[in-house]
Amino acid sequence: MALVNCARCGKVFSPEKPVPFCPDCVKAENEDYKKVAEYLRDYPLANVMEVANRTGVSPVMIFKFVRAGSLRLTDAPAAFKCRMCGKEVKKGTLCQDCIDKVKDLKEAAKKKAKKKR
Ligand SMILES: [Zn+2]
Ligand SMILES: [Zn+2]
Repeated sequence: MALVNCARCGKVFSPEKPVPFCPDCVKAENEDYKKVAEYLRDYPLANVMEVANRTGVSPVMIFKFVRAGSLRLTDAPAAFKCRMCGKEVKKGTLCQDCIDKVKDLKEAAKKKAKKKR
């Protein structure tokens, strides 16, 4: 059987099936996945950084799980962008700055309209 280098840790191993990772790394990844999944079950609203800090799993791995579709994060990064300036926002379609700007514009328009009458 051919020997291959593990794509994660570089260790040489002989795979029984065509897999890119050595058994140690597969095990480590499964453990990481379990930790993240368990944390998200308890805290479904946690974001990636929070999960990474609490579980000790690297954010890169968490993103990988999310991208693979096996995990779901409610607060997906870059999911929301302000429609006016493109800045990241937690929710909604505008950032606080632009909400204020729009409010000011509306107020100004209202005042103008009043003056005309
Ligand atoms: Zn490995
Ligand atoms: Zn904005």
